[in-house]
Amino acid sequence: DSADQSTTGSPDQSKPGSAPADTPPWHDGDIGEVLVSEEEIATRIAALAAQVDADYAGRELLLVGVLKGAVMVMADLSRALRTPVTMEFMAVSSYGSASSSSGVVRILKDLDRSIEGRDVLVVEDIIDSGLTLSWLLKNLRSRNPGSLEVLALFRKPEAITVDVDVRYVGFDIPSAFVVGYGLDYAEHYRTLPFVGTLTPEAIARGPR
Ligand code: 5GP
Repeated sequence: DSADQSTTGSPDQSKPGSAPADTPPWHDGDIGEVLVSEEEIATRIAALAAQVDADYAGRELLLVGVLKGAVMVMADLSRALRTPVTMEFMAVSSYGSASSSSGVVRILKDLDRSIEGRDVLVVEDIIDSGLTLSWLLKNLRSRNPGSLEVLALFRKPEAITVDVDVRYVGFDIPSAFVVGYGLDYAEHYRTLPFVGTLTPEAIARGPR
C-alpha cells in the first residue's frame, strides 16, 4: 500500500522565496529557494501524526529513526503522536558518490534492542533513489517485526529507482539537492527550520 497521493502534501508553489528574515544569519545568501516552510512542515507533521494515531490505535509503536537526517522529524513527530512510542536509532551509510547512493549499505550504528513482534515505523528524512531504504527494510524484515511501515517526510518521486512501500509521505519535492530540517550539506545546514535549495555559489564554495 503505497502512499495515497491525495493525502501527500506538496510544497506551496505560490510562495517560493529566499530564506525568511528571522532565520539564523550564518546561512545568509546560501539558500536559493525555500521549498517547504517551517509552518508547512509543522502542519504536515501534525496531519501525519493524526493518521498514524488512527492506524495504530490501541497499540504501542516502535519508532526507528535513521540518523542523522531524521532527528528533526523524530523529535517533532514523536511529540505530536498520542500513540505510546519507544524510540530506537540506526545509522547507515551508503557507498557511492556524495550525491547518489549505490544501494550498498553499511550499518554504522545498529538498533540497541530486538524488534521481534513489535509494530515498527521507520522514520526517514528523505527518499531519493530509495536504495538505502530498500536495503534497510530488507534488513529489518529479517528481524521478524510484528509489522513494518515507513514514514518519510520528503520524497523525490522522479528519482525513485526501486519500488519501496512508503505508507506515510510528507511532501513530494522536485529532484534538487535540499538542506534544512535535518538535511545537511557536509554536516552543515541541518538546523534550518525550513527545507530549501542551496545557491550554486554555496555548493561550489562548500560549507562556511
Ligand atoms: P537514497 O538511497 O534514497 O538515494 O538516499 C537517501 C539518503 O540520501 C537520505 O536519507 C539522505 O541522507 C540523502 N539525501 C537524498 N537526497 C538528499 C538531499 O536532497 N539533500 C540531502 N541533504 N540529503 C539527501
